[in-house]
Amino acid sequence: MIDSHAHLNDPHYDQILSEVIIRAEQAGIEGIINVGYDIPSSYRAVELANEYEWMYAVIGIHPHYAEQVSEADIKELEQLAEQGKVVGIGETGLDYYYDNSPREQQKLVFCQHLELAKRLDLPVVVHSRDAAKDTLDILKEHAKNRCVLHCYSGSLETAEIYLDMGHYISFAGPITFKNANKIRRVAANIPLDRLFIETDCPYLAPVPKRGNPNEPAWVVYVAEKLAELHDITIDEIKTITMENTRRFFRIEMIEEMMVD
Ligand SMILES: [Zn+2]
Repeated sequence: MIDSHAHLNDPHYDQILSEVIIRAEQAGIEGIINVGYDIPSSYRAVELANEYEWMYAVIGIHPHYAEQVSEADIKELEQLAEQGKVVGIGETGLDYYYDNSPREQQKLVFCQHLELAKRLDLPVVVHSRDAAKDTLDILKEHAKNRCVLHCYSGSLETAEIYLDMGHYISFAGPITFKNANKIRRVAANIPLDRLFIETDCPYLAPVPKRGNPNEPAWVVYVAEKLAELHDITIDEIKTITMENTRRFFRIEMIEEMMVD
């Protein structure tokens, strides 16, 4: 089982990392993709990937911080991407729920990330909250990018457009929440070969761990819920989502490079 979107690069884990990793291994986690949200967390994701054979890094700057992003930051990400085990660019996108950065700036920085990913031939981890139309418009303009819509919370209609474009859809703890029938309906209708599971830890702990800081071991609750929604076994959903994630981030290729 792979946690396709974690933030073990968050300082929250600095003191507890070894216990969290032991619990992840005990839960059957075989891979963790740590996703950057600013420059320091992107460096930390790379550091963790170099330290742990089964961890991989995605580097980028979250739309919350778009206002502070300069050309130099994008250059720095480009250089960092060459340091090995960087499997994607993100998380990037648009967040109109918090609106922590001006929307025009969010769009600009999102496009810069998409261009960077194209130059590096890497897939993109997209964060989109309350910004479905603009996210879709931008991704249509950048049709060459391969993307995963992480912690998907949009409509089925929009998801179907993303699927037609070849993108992937990832679900996190919210599909286990009591009042999440809408997201569950969407998740039940995503084809199995396009699904990922993730924690987005330390955020969004699933039921029955809700209210605690989240961790990769608990991605199993997301897997359980998706298995139930698709009426397949939990082992099947673990395998399918792992294969999807490995294919999307080309993890096999990196493993071969590591052996060489
Ligand atoms: Zn995240």
